[in-house]
Amino acid sequence: MTRFVFITGGVVSSLGKGIASAALAALLQARGHNVRLRKLDPYLNVDPGTMSPYQHGEVFITDDGAETDLDLGHYERFTGVHARRSDNTTTGRIYSDVIARERRGDYLGATVQVIPHITDAIKEAVVNGTDGYDFVLVEIGGTVGDIESLPFLEAIRQLRNDLGYDRTMCVHLTLLPYIPSAGELKTKPTQHSVKELQNVGIQPQILLCRSDRPIPKNERQKIANFCNVRPEAVIAALDVDTIYACPIAYHQQGMDREVLRYFDLDFEESPDLTKWEKIVETIRHPKKEARIAVVGKYTALLDSYKSLTEALLHGGIAHDARVKIEWIDSEALEKTDDVSSILQDLDGILVPGGFGERGSEGKINAIRFAREHKIPFLGICFGMQMAVIECARSLANLPKASSTEFGPTEEPLVALMTEWAKGNELLRRREGDDLGGTMRLGAYTAKLADGSRVAEIYGKTEIKERHRHRWEVNLHYKSQLEAAGLRFSGMSPDGILPEIVEYPDHPWFIGVQYHPELLSKPFDPHPLFAGFVGAAVERHETAPFLDEKTES
Ligand code: GLN
Repeated sequence: MTRFVFITGGVVSSLGKGIASAALAALLQARGHNVRLRKLDPYLNVDPGTMSPYQHGEVFITDDGAETDLDLGHYERFTGVHARRSDNTTTGRIYSDVIARERRGDYLGATVQVIPHITDAIKEAVVNGTDGYDFVLVEIGGTVGDIESLPFLEAIRQLRNDLGYDRTMCVHLTLLPYIPSAGELKTKPTQHSVKELQNVGIQPQILLCRSDRPIPKNERQKIANFCNVRPEAVIAALDVDTIYACPIAYHQQGMDREVLRYFDLDFEESPDLTKWEKIVETIRHPKKEARIAVVGKYTALLDSYKSLTEALLHGGIAHDARVKIEWIDSEALEKTDDVSSILQDLDGILVPGGFGERGSEGKINAIRFAREHKIPFLGICFGMQMAVIECARSLANLPKASSTEFGPTEEPLVALMTEWAKGNELLRRREGDDLGGTMRLGAYTAKLADGSRVAEIYGKTEIKERHRHRWEVNLHYKSQLEAAGLRFSGMSPDGILPEIVEYPDHPWFIGVQYHPELLSKPFDPHPLFAGFVGAAVERHETAPFLDEKTES
């Protein structure tokens, strides 16, 4: 029997509903249940793919090529369960499906309305494809009280009746602010937020209360009385120093026990949380260190690089090392003089995915610096494309090398991809096509060259990695670049699309067209991130700083 746990949030946004959902799922998993996580987003975009990273943070890509909310990244990192397109639904998607059905005449002359047509479509999206799971955790984006989340809450209210109260429960995440002048944790915002939920017919069974200190017995009892829950179901979600401590912290507060008790399932035996204990211990007390520069354009909103930050942390876990990330705005590196002063003390340089010309020369300068000074380098997607342009300009005598993403160019080292194979299907795109959902998206296979560094790192010669790009390295220049020392060590199976480049004569320099950060887990660090951080740790321990080197 599949049970549904709906997770809503109140009082303020950014309380960490995504991580709370993921951590609860990890706890249920640790108790032997199989889980799937879903997210309902109330905005009108069909998916976040067209939104600026400044608006919405990272766009997380699934194996099946969906552009989704970054919370799906947390779900995967905590549970290892790969998300699917159907795990992220937005108001935009629901409305566009319902309107398409209306245009086809599927509603047989009915007046199409929010209730029941939109709510039915939401219920279908929640339940579809969940057979065989013990628990489906459904996070509702936004904050209770927002106009736009109302149809989602109404759909949940109805689903509880449709599926039965014994198969569904609601968890509400709130904030208990500490007011220093009163010396108290205040429960009123939580009471109001639960009232909002009750107004739309939803009674939460568990309140997960974010607070910076334990909840005293009196306050717990007060919340229970006013909000109509058991005192044991008022769970403190205390601030933690690393998100990976959440499963342990929630367990200590009795979160998983309350969920299981509600569903009348066994909760006596404690779950095995050693996996999480080990991760947290390594994060808290690492023995080594590496300082890594991430040279990007969206450094003002670090949520834009969520998976990347986590993958670097995981790479550190693999080496018992703390990874200190220096976020560097690529525009600060446009003048070559600045490059060495900014980058010289760092142990590794990473150029992540990106879009558009602004800041690209700074990235190219950073890449040249990494190549010339033998600093470990990882280029991801746009970062790989810029590494190829850098090679063309500096080593292959093609000073005009550029990407057609920046406009017409005489030497299109990176060019617009117009067709590619997806399994047996040939996908075609033209300039001027819609922007939403039309990139090369999702998991594609790549073949790695025997004896290459990447084949050694992965320990195999066939890999599957997630992509999100519209441009590609132009195969036309392959032999010129190879003559200049750059090895094409990974290609699409049909040999048409370059997937990986590396310099065999550099200690660690790899560029990949895909996004390895999307597959990294704290308990299973991605091999490229483990390799990159490992090389940076080694440099940190052995290499003298560059200015010392020049002095000697
Ligand atoms: N803008 C580049 C492209 O579309 C790279 C995209 C990315 O880094 N994800 O090909």
